[in-house]
Amino acid sequence: MAMRFRCTAATTRNSGARATRRKRMPVAENGARCCRGSEPRMCWSIRPKSRCWQAFWPPTATPCRCGTGRWKHGRRRLDRLATARCCNVVRGDNDDSDWPPLRMNQALLRFDDLAARKDDPALFARWLFSGSLAERPHGLDGMQFRCSLCMAVTRMARREGVEDLREGMPCATCGMSARLRSCLAMLGTLVEPSDRIYITEQGTPAFAWLQARYPHVRGSEFEPDADRRAALAAYLESLGGHGPIEFQDVTRLDMADDSLHAVACFDVLEHVPDYRAALREFARVLRAGGHLLATFPFTDGPDTVVRASLSPQGEVVHHMEPEYHGDPVGGAVLCFQHFGWDVLAAVREAGLAHAEMVMPWSPEHGLLYGNWMLLARKTG
Ligand SMILES: [Zn+2]
Repeated sequence: MAMRFRCTAATTRNSGARATRRKRMPVAENGARCCRGSEPRMCWSIRPKSRCWQAFWPPTATPCRCGTGRWKHGRRRLDRLATARCCNVVRGDNDDSDWPPLRMNQALLRFDDLAARKDDPALFARWLFSGSLAERPHGLDGMQFRCSLCMAVTRMARREGVEDLREGMPCATCGMSARLRSCLAMLGTLVEPSDRIYITEQGTPAFAWLQARYPHVRGSEFEPDADRRAALAAYLESLGGHGPIEFQDVTRLDMADDSLHAVACFDVLEHVPDYRAALREFARVLRAGGHLLATFPFTDGPDTVVRASLSPQGEVVHHMEPEYHGDPVGGAVLCFQHFGWDVLAAVREAGLAHAEMVMPWSPEHGLLYGNWMLLARKTG
């Protein structure tokens, strides 16, 4: 559906300034330029106050969910962007069943390798948009979005500092961060409720959420200590989940070959020194057509950064300042690596032939730049 928008740079009252600004505005590689067209285009000005931000919101010609085809954002200044909204959401209609859930497979930027990602105009535009929004004081304050998990229309609350677009941006209703909202919504597009799913965590909100919806989901923790597993079980119960916590080593899973429809591994692989063995295990237990969905610290650079490794004697060798990540019961877990694009080759070598890095993009669902995830499928 065609969507009207007004270009900030091209509609300044001063014709001289207008001419200058338009001349300075470079043309994107794909030929799109800032203009007065009726379709959204990419605008490449890097000056926030003259940026044609409406071209980014929404970045595709997605029709307004209320069916009128209009978005209520005739505002020009970037600092008002956070309040741009669909005319339907303005009414605050939480019971709008016509607004479908996020169809994640239609909101993805997908890349097979670093070469495909480099200089991608769509990715660059989203980075510009998200960065300027997050870094402005209170830039996300009051931003309204539809949670892709609990389906509530919610608002971003004011938070101190620059908002973390991955671990932050929690839904005011279910509390899930942008990363979890994107990951669980993505998983939901890959599996059926009756499918067998394994997730490499158990005492977490993500597992409790899955357990309530997928009867055959199985989770585990890499926690040999029985007391700490009991603490995790109590935590899981407080989240609405149930059951004892299972111990698994992801490099030696006890599951049968070709037995699972999906494996989900959210921010765990960076804690596994031999992550290639874990990838081989995931490939082994997945059935043909099964999916691996994984997130991890991603550098967006060509090579994986090894921060620490294990010596042949099994001792930890630090190559950089040690980095520890928290766990739900207050532990600190050493991070062995930050992954780069070469992780795709490792996944393919492990037996998952179809592998790509994807990034969901859906501002109307509160998903901005940076939620990289690995998506792989086992073929034949
Ligand atoms: Zn929610």
